[in-house]
Amino acid sequence: MDWSFQLGTIQGIKIKFHWTFAFIILWGAYSYGSGNGLLGLLYGALLTVLIFVIVLLHELGHSLVAMSFGIKVRDITLLPIGGMARLERMPSKPWQEFLVAIAGPAVNFVLAAAIFSFLLVSIFAGRHGIWDLMFRLTFEPHLWNLLYFLFVVNVSLLLFNLLPAFPMDGGRILRAFLAMGLGQFRATKVAVWVGQGIAFVMAGYAIWSGQLLLVLIAGFIFIAGSAEKRSVMVREVLAKIRAGDVVAGVVNVMLPSYTLGEVAGLALRSPQASYPVMLGGSLLGILRRADVKRGLNTGHRLATVAEFMQHRFPKIDASATLATVQEAFETSGTSAAAVYDGERFIGLIDAEDVERAYRFHNTRRLQWI
Ligand SMILES: [Zn+2]
Repeated sequence: MDWSFQLGTIQGIKIKFHWTFAFIILWGAYSYGSGNGLLGLLYGALLTVLIFVIVLLHELGHSLVAMSFGIKVRDITLLPIGGMARLERMPSKPWQEFLVAIAGPAVNFVLAAAIFSFLLVSIFAGRHGIWDLMFRLTFEPHLWNLLYFLFVVNVSLLLFNLLPAFPMDGGRILRAFLAMGLGQFRATKVAVWVGQGIAFVMAGYAIWSGQLLLVLIAGFIFIAGSAEKRSVMVREVLAKIRAGDVVAGVVNVMLPSYTLGEVAGLALRSPQASYPVMLGGSLLGILRRADVKRGLNTGHRLATVAEFMQHRFPKIDASATLATVQEAFETSGTSAAAVYDGERFIGLIDAEDVERAYRFHNTRRLQWI
């Protein structure tokens, strides 16, 4: 349960919002609207909802560009701290990552520019003094105040997201630029270094000025930077290992007609985490230790292996790298894949094998330095 509710879908992307949203809208109604009666409260709630509509449009900007590169977008979740679009994978080419990253801020730029020209028209039409409209943010319910508010929101989102620090879009834009010359791995190291430098300065300023929220954001940037560096490092190591070199070989094979009770002893005690389910030399599915546990925990000792095995699983060529295997796990949502040498099934790889291979190769690399 991730405490999110689905609002609907746009272009096949699920749009979800977190339940704490209800509180944010109440909070917005109170902080923007108090002092102006019931109308003020409704206006405050409207402003808050509109902020998140803008955030949603920003995320849709990222998503639609990603989809144009053939990347599936699972969902967009609106959280109290902002939006999050979950892409099935990251774009592989730096210029694609650049376009996906810049599409979000570009949406805010276009919105800000459109609202700005609207406001200019109002100033030139003599309805408002420039000072009145452009430099004073008031929360009195009024169309022009509303437009100015939305302008400020878009400009703030634009500037904040362009900060060159992961996980902000600016960090990805910087990495994409650097990657064109330095390669993905070194580009990430430099980009994370820049981002953490910014976070450090931000934290110093935040502590000096006593802004708790800014301290949290700085801490978040610091942690996100380290996570990004680690994930690229893991990828770098995995991209050098071939699936065919890690595959366990067919050690224990199961028949689809075995019951969970019969295989429980083996599946729960053996170091082998997943088993090919075969009949007459062909692979029908994969039974993972987790599937056995799930079956036993729900009282299905007499159910067959066929009922609890994974019917859909990635099929990997022996020459593919573990980075590809990892990606296949992520896109398929399972943790075991079948490896083939041409047409011939040679064995399974599961997440534990990948983890083990990573640790082995990574420590070896450290020893060589
Ligand atoms: Zn963004």
